[in-house]
Amino acid sequence: MGIALSTPERVAPVAARLPTITTVCSHSSLQIFHGARVEGFRSLGICAGAPPKYYDAFPLGRPDSFLSVPSLQEVASQTQKLKDATAVVVPHGSFVEYVGPERFAELDVPVFGNRAVIAWESDREKEREWLDSAGVQMPRRFATPADVDGPAIVKYYGAKGGKGFFLAKNREALDGFQPSGPHVIQEYVLGTRYYLHFFYSPLSTDGYRVGSGSLELLGMDRRDEANIDELYKLGAHEELLRAGIRPTFVVTGNVPVVMRESLLPQVFDVGARIIEKSIELFGGMVGPFCVEGIMTEDLVFKVFEISTRIVAGTNVYVHGSPYSDLVAPDLSMGRRIALELKRGRAEGRLQEILS
Ligand code: ATP
Repeated sequence: MGIALSTPERVAPVAARLPTITTVCSHSSLQIFHGARVEGFRSLGICAGAPPKYYDAFPLGRPDSFLSVPSLQEVASQTQKLKDATAVVVPHGSFVEYVGPERFAELDVPVFGNRAVIAWESDREKEREWLDSAGVQMPRRFATPADVDGPAIVKYYGAKGGKGFFLAKNREALDGFQPSGPHVIQEYVLGTRYYLHFFYSPLSTDGYRVGSGSLELLGMDRRDEANIDELYKLGAHEELLRAGIRPTFVVTGNVPVVMRESLLPQVFDVGARIIEKSIELFGGMVGPFCVEGIMTEDLVFKVFEISTRIVAGTNVYVHGSPYSDLVAPDLSMGRRIALELKRGRAEGRLQEILS
């Protein structure tokens, strides 16, 4: 038996009745609802106001029913309705952002995965402590602009989509730098970005063993970031700044990628270290997570961020990826979540995957 994340009382209704896979209508919800349908679960979409019309265009990704709320911050006030539906909440990136981390932490319905992870992910200092102590390589940090010894990126806390991030090609470019709020100055890592889609199952007894379960790699993507990914078409960075154009990292979409096979041992090592440390620090991260990093020309993978839930980059693999195809056919991340829920019920181990 692994680590219990929730009380028997919280999981009892889900063990007794087939749960309804529930999430907020956005982000990766079409895939989550599709995965639920394929595995025989009912699904519920939470939306602010009327159900979004675009769902009508995707009958296989549409939830069975909707719960309309005046505003997503009021989801917690709908607890009774969620309980009546035997909801299991699948949090995605937008879910926590829209509902708010505090309200999410207190939601009195079962949540897929360990909600304690939010405290470690939403605080950049704690996130760094977790990854550093796991022995994962990260971009170097500079205490002051004077310490900068190469290209640097200034990141403001809470900046959505990297808005206001500042790129400096060298220390001189930071002369007279006046920060507009709490921030970190990091080495700007030159290389290729990869966003790795992992799934950690504490229930699995075979595969790539980590802790008492297994680590799966189900895909990878790269994000299209407007406008920085297109800036090169217009000309050099300085020219653009002169023209008043600031690079931003607002994500507008995702593209599938694969990595050189010889780099996979490094990828699994990074994922395993992060999981092992999470078990030690807060009882373990369960289910989907994404390690976001840059592979340098020396073939060192430097991690700049971790997302501890399903990421929207998995949407490119609704029918599987070159990696998940080697785990099982037609395996999306959404379906993988539903499969874990099925197994947890069948084996009486829901307490290890729900919190
Ligand atoms: P989100 O929460 O949307 O993932 P964020 O605001 O937390 O974004 P990061 O994910 O840390 O910001 O960074 C946004 C983008 O900036 C990355 O996708 C990457 O393109 C770039 N980036 C971040 N850190 C570095 C770094 N150290 N070196 C090079 N590029 C970086």
